[in-house]
Amino acid sequence: MRTPWPLDLASRVDRAAERRELVDLETCDAIVVRDGRVLAADGRVVELAPEAQPPAALRIYLGRDGDRDLAALVPVDPGFGADDDGIGGDRMRGLRDLLAGFWDRGADGEREHELATTAVAIANWHATHPRCALCGEETVPTLGGWVRRCERDGRDHYPRTDPAIIVAITDPEDRLLLAHAAHWSPRRFSHLAGYVEPGETFEQAVHREVHEESGLALAALEYLGSQPWPFPASVMVAFRAMTDRPEDLRLDMDEISEARFVARDEIAALILAGEVVLAPKGSVARRMLEDWYGGALPEPRRDGPVDV
Ligand SMILES: [Zn+2]
Repeated sequence: MRTPWPLDLASRVDRAAERRELVDLETCDAIVVRDGRVLAADGRVVELAPEAQPPAALRIYLGRDGDRDLAALVPVDPGFGADDDGIGGDRMRGLRDLLAGFWDRGADGEREHELATTAVAIANWHATHPRCALCGEETVPTLGGWVRRCERDGRDHYPRTDPAIIVAITDPEDRLLLAHAAHWSPRRFSHLAGYVEPGETFEQAVHREVHEESGLALAALEYLGSQPWPFPASVMVAFRAMTDRPEDLRLDMDEISEARFVARDEIAALILAGEVVLAPKGSVARRMLEDWYGGALPEPRRDGPVDV
């Protein structure tokens, strides 16, 4: 019996796009974001009132939360929140480290997940798009931080998100394909994945990536859900699929250096023995694993190897 796919979540925050050009961002409570990190305390995202906020290099309108407006703030000081001086206990934490905890806290965690991934994604975009792609002139943030406008030609540039597909593949015995990418740390295994190319549907990207990386043809393809993945600018689009001919597995060896089909009892033993390290809790890859497995995967022994 498969567990229900759990990503069909309604938005927990009203993005209120119509308010982006109206709200004075300096009066908003704000979450602090910089370099893919978010200000957090005990795993929870911290919201600072205006009087508690550090000097800002950039502010971005996040939306309406109940009866107040929320913003993201990029501090001027690159070292802000590196230690607990001044704002006891609060630290800048990598978004990946925070993901697992979000999903354990129900609606509150889903709300924080939405705010944090949005803030990190759009702050990443600002950090990497300082100039006009057409004329090279500097761009300036406008519309509550959701547009950058070219000072020379007046063109508006919008945040971009790069879709990537990820697919859980099973064989006729319902064993799951686990693959190791050549550039990953030893023992790390996951599903096949790759970026969608211009002109492709998501489904075509799945068939192409799987064929390129594994030689496999897919007999069935089913959409599962998606998850924003701002590392630095993606959304992961998740599928599951079957192959009738697992014996056709041929690795390209440039991208995927190892892959095999594993049964459920086998995967549990591999985890407990520390022979495979799987995607962390909070990632879409982990949800796909547990969807196939039929529940929570065992945790590796604490003295076992760790992903480095
Ligand atoms: Zn320009």
